[in-house]
Amino acid sequence: MSVRLFNTYSRHLEDFRPLDPAGRQVKMYTCGPTVYNHAHIGNFRAYVFEDLLQRHLEARGFVVERVMNLTDVDDKTIRGARAAGRRLADFTQVYKDAFFHDLETLRIKPANHFPAATEPRYVERMIAMIGQLEAQGIAYQAEDRSVYFRLAKFPDYGKLAHLNLDELRPSGRVNSDEYEKENIGDFALWKAWDEADGDVRWESPWGPGRPGWHIECSAMATALLGPELDIHCGGVDNIFPHHEAEIAQSECCTGRKFVRHWLHCAHLMVEGQKMSKSAGNFYTLRDLLEKGFTGREIRYALLTVNYRLPLNFTFAGLEGARAALGRIDVWVRRISDCRSQIADAGVFTGGEMSVSLGRHKNFFQALDDDLNIAGALGQLFDLIRESNSALDHGQFGPEQASELLKLWESINRVLAFEPEAAAVPAAVLALVEKRQQARADKDWQASDRLRDEIAALGWIVKDTKDGPKLSPAAA
Ligand code: AMP
Ligand code: ZN
Repeated sequence: MSVRLFNTYSRHLEDFRPLDPAGRQVKMYTCGPTVYNHAHIGNFRAYVFEDLLQRHLEARGFVVERVMNLTDVDDKTIRGARAAGRRLADFTQVYKDAFFHDLETLRIKPANHFPAATEPRYVERMIAMIGQLEAQGIAYQAEDRSVYFRLAKFPDYGKLAHLNLDELRPSGRVNSDEYEKENIGDFALWKAWDEADGDVRWESPWGPGRPGWHIECSAMATALLGPELDIHCGGVDNIFPHHEAEIAQSECCTGRKFVRHWLHCAHLMVEGQKMSKSAGNFYTLRDLLEKGFTGREIRYALLTVNYRLPLNFTFAGLEGARAALGRIDVWVRRISDCRSQIADAGVFTGGEMSVSLGRHKNFFQALDDDLNIAGALGQLFDLIRESNSALDHGQFGPEQASELLKLWESINRVLAFEPEAAAVPAAVLALVEKRQQARADKDWQASDRLRDEIAALGWIVKDTKDGPKLSPAAA
């Protein structure tokens, strides 16, 4: 079965096929954060969903090249920098660093490219694209010296959001004289400098100013991935106007279809409202870490509802994530222990592995179906229940346990739910080093005594061909 994904453009489930004639390389663009503040976990729902998509495509043999941009110049970043009395670049750097740290905490695979809008090569490209649009009569400079995209020139505008372009024209209620644009729906490509922008300005054929948000993404996407992308993602709030505008600009410049598959995740909600900075109902990752939740628990909570369904944020949901991960941990520990036993432990009756293999297959097939993570996790928990019962009845031996662990590892490459690596205290490390010395000296008595001392500190040391391996005693 192939991977089927819901395409916002067609509003249908479609078989996923990349442009690459060999069917392997996937070009994926994901709208990244505006770095004026810490991203909230609503934003991270979008990034975790995109991470799941990438990981599942990789599990299915695709090679994903992913771009995630950083919006480091717009109204909000400029306003923030001014309020903080800092240069724009210094102000945004703090939030860029924090963002990368948060991605790591949530185990989101880093993109291949993280272009920032203010990098000179991209600003040059934005200016070149606007020039190209102007030459075609699609862009025009208005009296306010800003440059706008003339919507009337792009009849496909509105197709992604399924909007009627006529609805965007000024209605009788709006006095269009108040607008300097020709058409109220026209969007800015280049914003003329004004005093509120301070020293944030670039020279351009239209005078000093800065790029609009939409052209930033078109320029960075096409610069890094070429004129045609396989996948473009974001949250549903990005569909209009941002992604519509990206399509209009890119297609008018390249003459090619910009994106084959558009995917958008539904919002993370709090009490029926979208989690957002403006509504003030948001939590950052830091807020939740301070409350004692871990990155993987938050990842689990953000991941477990299918991406096209709204996800309601609650602390009970986070507690549920903790409990579910606890079950997975206990199960992995049991099969690991079973694998380490001597070969004649347990009497394997032969039936259980085929059940497990079936569950494993079903896990990936559920994800093939538009990333049905709820169905996939259902298969995983059935696998856990069934294999726990087989373990209880001594139906798994070390070889089967080893096979089962391999199944888990391939599932976990998609989920990234493994336990946090516990930090080993310095005192334990010192004892391990002493013990290694004792072993080198063939002082077995001292070695055993040191093992007990290590155990008394809550750690178990195992000697493997790659050297000593430590694990927490509870594991
Ligand atoms: P922004 O920094 O506002 O441009 O948003 C970055 C990404 O997060 C975009 O893909 C948004 O669509 C997404 N996003 C923002 N708020 C939410 C939310 N409450 N739930 C899910 N995604 C969101
Ligand atoms: Zn974008």
